[in-house]
Amino acid sequence: MFFFDPLWLLFAIPGLLLGIWAQVKLSHAYRKYSRVPVESGMTGAEAAREILDQAGLNNVPVAEIPGRLSDHYDPAKRALFLSSDNYHGRTVAAVGVAAHESGHALQHQAAYALFNFRMAIVPITQFSSMAYAGIFFAGFIFRTLFAKFILIAIALFAVTTLFQLVTLPVEFDASSRAKAQLFRLGLVREDERAGVSKVLDAAALTYVAALVSSVMQLLYLLTMSRRN
Ligand SMILES: [Zn+2]
Repeated sequence: MFFFDPLWLLFAIPGLLLGIWAQVKLSHAYRKYSRVPVESGMTGAEAAREILDQAGLNNVPVAEIPGRLSDHYDPAKRALFLSSDNYHGRTVAAVGVAAHESGHALQHQAAYALFNFRMAIVPITQFSSMAYAGIFFAGFIFRTLFAKFILIAIALFAVTTLFQLVTLPVEFDASSRAKAQLFRLGLVREDERAGVSKVLDAAALTYVAALVSSVMQLLYLLTMSRRN
């Protein structure tokens, strides 16, 4: 059976381990710095508001959404969404995450090429991952069918991998824009910088893990196609 191919496991393990490690690291960093209050006394929402306003993005609203670490910038709505903890939190973690999401709004405003490219390939990525799941499922039932469509499966999965590859520099850039603004506007103090970096670097590591998983899965599919 396709799922129990030991070779698949061999390819899946590195990404899986890295993913678990990244989640543990993020969880630790986030928990630790969610207990460290910022000297400025600002909430994540206030810090985001300040960064956006200073960049002339007064028209980008900052809204609260449920969920843990569900924070994101929505380019279609041109709005920033912060999880309740980060919206109300007056901590290093809350302000750091809020600034990171503001960083995406700044990328959008600056028409940062990779941000635009990533946004442009969202629909095709969604289609590809759905179609890939369909082929994968069909292959689970009829193994020979998967062999027949393996080149299509590879092409579809390559789109997902490309998306994750582009995501990486976009995420790192959002964090560096965030840190630059936090320090320039005096929203965090010198000794709070390390905490912000630790939370944002740990978050970035989860994207690295996702990319590694995808690349390994793609390599596995390529190995399978050579075998056939
Ligand atoms: Zn981000």
